[in-house]
Amino acid sequence: MRIFSTFKISSSSVGHNLFSRLSLRRSHAPFPEPSMATTTEESLRRDFAAKQSAVEAQGNAIRALKAATATKPEIDAAIEALNQLKIEKAAVERELLSVISGGSGDGSVSREAFRQAVLNTLERRLFYIPSFKIYRGVAGLYDFGPPGCAVKSNVLAFWRQVREFIGLPKFINYGTVTRIQNFGIVTKGMQNIWQLYSNAEYPVGYWSNAKHSLTLLDNAKQRYWSNAKHPVMLPDECKTSYNIVGLRVKHPGKTSTLLISPQCKTLVLQYLGNAAGTSPVAYPDYMQDPGGISGTQSKLKLRKCHFVLEENMLEVDCPCVTPEVVLKASGHVDKFTDLMVKDEKTGTCYRADHLLKDFCNEKLQKDLTISAEKAAEFRHVLAVLDDLSAEELGAKIKEYGITAPDTKNPLSDPYPFNLMFQTSIGPSGLLPGYMRPETAQGIFVNFKDLYYYNGNKLPFAAAQIGQAFRNEISPRQGLLRVREFTLAEIEHFVDPEDKSHPKYSEVANLEFLMFPREEQMSGQSAKIICLGEAVSKGIVNNETLGYFIGRVYLFLTRLGINRKRLRFRQHLANEMAHYAADCWDAEIESTYGWIECVGIADRSAYDLRAHTDKSGVPLVAAEKFSEPREVEKLVIAPVKKELGLAFKGNQKNVVEALEAMSEQEALEMKAALESKGEVEFQVCTLGKNVCIKKNMVSISKEKKKEHQRVFTPSVIEPSFGIGRIIYCLYEHSFYTRPSKAGDEQLNVFRFPPLVAPIKCTVFPLVQNQQYEEVAKEISKSLTVAGISHKIDITGTSIGKRYARTDELGVPFAITVDSTSSVTIRERDSKDQIRVNVDEAATVVKAVTDGLKSWEDIWSSYPHHSSESADD
Ligand code: AMP
Repeated sequence: MRIFSTFKISSSSVGHNLFSRLSLRRSHAPFPEPSMATTTEESLRRDFAAKQSAVEAQGNAIRALKAATATKPEIDAAIEALNQLKIEKAAVERELLSVISGGSGDGSVSREAFRQAVLNTLERRLFYIPSFKIYRGVAGLYDFGPPGCAVKSNVLAFWRQVREFIGLPKFINYGTVTRIQNFGIVTKGMQNIWQLYSNAEYPVGYWSNAKHSLTLLDNAKQRYWSNAKHPVMLPDECKTSYNIVGLRVKHPGKTSTLLISPQCKTLVLQYLGNAAGTSPVAYPDYMQDPGGISGTQSKLKLRKCHFVLEENMLEVDCPCVTPEVVLKASGHVDKFTDLMVKDEKTGTCYRADHLLKDFCNEKLQKDLTISAEKAAEFRHVLAVLDDLSAEELGAKIKEYGITAPDTKNPLSDPYPFNLMFQTSIGPSGLLPGYMRPETAQGIFVNFKDLYYYNGNKLPFAAAQIGQAFRNEISPRQGLLRVREFTLAEIEHFVDPEDKSHPKYSEVANLEFLMFPREEQMSGQSAKIICLGEAVSKGIVNNETLGYFIGRVYLFLTRLGINRKRLRFRQHLANEMAHYAADCWDAEIESTYGWIECVGIADRSAYDLRAHTDKSGVPLVAAEKFSEPREVEKLVIAPVKKELGLAFKGNQKNVVEALEAMSEQEALEMKAALESKGEVEFQVCTLGKNVCIKKNMVSISKEKKKEHQRVFTPSVIEPSFGIGRIIYCLYEHSFYTRPSKAGDEQLNVFRFPPLVAPIKCTVFPLVQNQQYEEVAKEISKSLTVAGISHKIDITGTSIGKRYARTDELGVPFAITVDSTSSVTIRERDSKDQIRVNVDEAATVVKAVTDGLKSWEDIWSSYPHHSSESADD
């Protein structure tokens, strides 16, 4: 959802500047962060200029020596000094070029080369395909190929309701249990008894798998599970504060741990032993159910989160084609624009700000002769690009002599271009419509029904995943700026007087890179801040906004986004709409710079009010009072008869204007009418002042009993650009490593299993019927376990088959090299373990589902080393 702002309204800048979200739509690649890179670049530019002057001065000195017929040794020494200076200048030049092209200065691969490697791999392996390729494609439209579809569907499944396993290491203190009491009966048998340990690692209780009951011991030091014959409750002082860190079971030959995370109200069983044949149990939310734990034994239940399920969101699915009236009310028809310029001779269109941005970037990156001051000016222009009005943009384009990139023809003045694809609904052409530019409006117009569905209670959130369409003027940045893309949007409706969030404490301790407004203004960089601190200091406007920032952070990092390349940037005051309380963008660093991938905004009551006004349907909520409250209300009662006599056909406008007066205006009018008997009153809709007399309106304060408070809810909106997140994930996951022979670089995507398009491959080591049979059996078990996999029975060398699937990011490969056992190889470490054939699918399932880490598996199974492994 875009945000409208009211700064700098001028006739030709309307649209561009009204739409503060315009700025979100651009990458913040050149954001003036005084990062190390900028500082280095500045000093390198100064160094380079100094070396250049020194070379020139030395050249002049040599000419002077020659003119003065100096001795040969003198001239030779001066030439040697010149050569030395040239070497130094070349070194600085190399370093400067490397820094401005995105390399680190140490000869590492440049951004462009890296991006090209990623894109080549993605396109070759059909993660994406330029749409309508056989007809030479259309800019800004891309298809997802099979692995791309799988990744997208995994990301969306995770967004809706992820199965999040708390695969936590043993004996970590998960916090304080506050609700341990009244747990069930002790089982007498010793089987299936799980021992509960405190953080001091003393057993403090035990869990009966057979009876589903948890018993706590009164004296942890003395009474061990084997001696506990009776149910013993935890001493009172421990009931409210006891740190439980693990529940350990001793099965013969196996060790398992049941981890209790009171904070997450979740139990998850971790088997550290042999997984096969055991029946894992986990009982979510047991802390909320102290009387007994519901759930079926051996049915694995897991904590779900992100976003729809966790928040009990109401998901809707609305049409992409939207009638004009909806987008008129939201403001899109009038203001969803970018500034465009045209080649005056050919008519080719360009985005005005892009041309200016390219010009400045090119100067900064390719022209080493510009002074540090000029470089600072270009950087400043890049920083304020989003704020420039049409006139200012046009003036800069003229000042820098920017022409059409393809023809060098002169350009028109910038003018606003609406980005929505227009259509008409039905054959008559009488009902104009647009392809929706965002999914949010579908939720707003359904607010009344959704509120009712939610039992007329606030807060609640609605969500929608769907396609959005924006007719981008000249889409560049490949997969990042496209004309049709998937949005996943949440509209969380909340009482404006209470923006607390019940689950805020779950994220308050998170620490990550934040870039508050103040740091941006004072030229500092993003820094690690504790979210709770940012909320309590008022840097983040309210708890609910903070809660969603935290959830977005968890979502992105769990997908595999590098946390060091993720920051939350607060909108500057001039970027924000006048009605917005606060906005933050989750920006991910890619080779295109810092890219806004998720916008998280507190949009106050703007959207619901806009649709209330246009439709006449009140989109409001009510808080019922337990006791009626007495309130003093200002009552403005226009006397219609007198107004009709005085103003005839204009009566309605005058009545409306009187009723719309603020409390202060009305009290001033009352005072004036009482003292003078009449008052001049401006009626905007008539465009003139009228004379209001004492008999035309009654203004009084009355005491009333109110049973409820009716208000327009505020909306807090996280809006996820799914395609952008996925592209950044591709870049963050991609790396190359040398082949075993060292003669080529092999591509790898290190997707976490959650995201990986295919979880596992099955390869018979050599072409052999028995091995193929085993491979097919394993494939069947994987299908039954719901693990996406690929079986490859070609005779290609095993190394080549590994390399092919590494390039698709497949995390595990099962290689059949005997009929009784197989190897499982992990993609990034290339480590292999040996497991029995009938265990292979279970092991892969445990690790792809996140129940176990590869380290767990690695420590539980014999290792396999094979010279042939990666050849
Ligand atoms: P906006 O409504 O402009 O804030 O956009 C919401 C989200 O949609 C942004 O955070 C981006 O991730 C994504 N987005 C916006 N425009 C595009 C585009 N042209 N191509 C791909 N994603 C986009």
